[in-house]
Amino acid sequence: MATAGKVIKCRAAVAWEPNAPLMMEEIEVAPPQEGEIRIKIVATGVCHTDLYHLFEGKDKRGFPTVLGHEGAGVVESVGPGVTDFKPGDKVIPLFISQCGECRFCKCPKTNLCDRNWTSNNHNIMSDPTTRLTCRGQPILQFMGTSTFSEYTVMNQIAVAKIQDDAPLDRVCLLGCGIATGYGAAVNTAGVTPGSVCAVFGLGAVGLAAVMGCKNAGASRIFAVDINEKKSEKAKVFGATDFLNPKAYNKPISEVLAEMTNGGVDFSLECVGNTEVMRSALESCVKGWGVSVMVGWTDVKDFSARPIQLISGKTWKGSLFGGFKSKDSVPKLVQDYMSGKIKLDEFITHKMSLEQVNDAINLMKTGECIRSILNISK
Ligand code: NAD
Ligand code: ZN
Repeated sequence: MATAGKVIKCRAAVAWEPNAPLMMEEIEVAPPQEGEIRIKIVATGVCHTDLYHLFEGKDKRGFPTVLGHEGAGVVESVGPGVTDFKPGDKVIPLFISQCGECRFCKCPKTNLCDRNWTSNNHNIMSDPTTRLTCRGQPILQFMGTSTFSEYTVMNQIAVAKIQDDAPLDRVCLLGCGIATGYGAAVNTAGVTPGSVCAVFGLGAVGLAAVMGCKNAGASRIFAVDINEKKSEKAKVFGATDFLNPKAYNKPISEVLAEMTNGGVDFSLECVGNTEVMRSALESCVKGWGVSVMVGWTDVKDFSARPIQLISGKTWKGSLFGGFKSKDSVPKLVQDYMSGKIKLDEFITHKMSLEQVNDAINLMKTGECIRSILNISK
């Protein structure tokens, strides 16, 4: 490799500050250090969590940064001590690491890892150590990944090696949205055969949750969104009913209770809105209903009346669908290759890295499910 051991200069979309368009820049990507891997990114999705950091979280300490955490690529070079990866391997960068050694990795109940950026840096949404610089300034690696760049550097504990025949411009979606929604249904909620489910928010995360409910054998799946245009897509993934809360003059939880003899068995919030989280909980049946928060937000408190939980409902949350990342992503790639899970149907737009601001706008206005940015060949 002609570039191994050297600084690589390449193109990246830099977010210099909150609430501003990303800027195409030439950045420097340092060689991988001990235990690290430098990856040439081939394709990346744009996820609402990128938009959250830019427009909703807006914590200035989290900038400048290179966003993007739903990518796939090829190993360019590896640092000292890396034995499981070699140049040319196909990989998916992981925003949830799996060191395999900490108490969380050793516990089957969770997919958190103590060595992840989330351990200490929720607000800045990245680890302050970075291998990226631009115009002499360090540039933070959003969620530890930074896939809106031709190259990035990751610790090997946060990289999944995947099969050689996987199409990177599709399986990149398993780096976040699809694994998240699908796992939230099959792992975190634990949807059971014959159950009645409701999914709130029908972006890629919510649609993947619908797919999870369907694959787990749910008998009825209500897809809930304020954007009517999402209705057709929801049916593709297995929704049996579509509800637009704006079309009713009473709370959607009451509508669902009337349609289901008291409420759904499982509900999943895939919007990132605390009011919708409450509504999803209230839509569950007393006694055993389970509601899962999947939408990402950390700027306000959530609330509900205690009787909701006293009456036997469970309220829980899910990060990356509860999947232990390094172990699970290669299996999810296999599941896609064998037809067990869909990916192609989530992709509505294909663009270049230069068009990243257009892709962000498409998500803001609800006109896309997933836009894929082709970063390099
Ligand atoms: P998206 O913007 O594509 O989809 C959000 C959907 O919610 C849209 O269809 C929108 O119309 C709908 N919506 C908005 N307000 C609504 C309301 N009041 N009621 C019903 N529907 C409403 O986003 P996405 O990429 O699918 O991500 C969804 C959420 O999941 C985001 O909050 C994102 O940050 C979060 N997320 C969480 C994790 C995790 O690990 N927990 C991972 C990835 C994404
Ligand atoms: Zn995401």
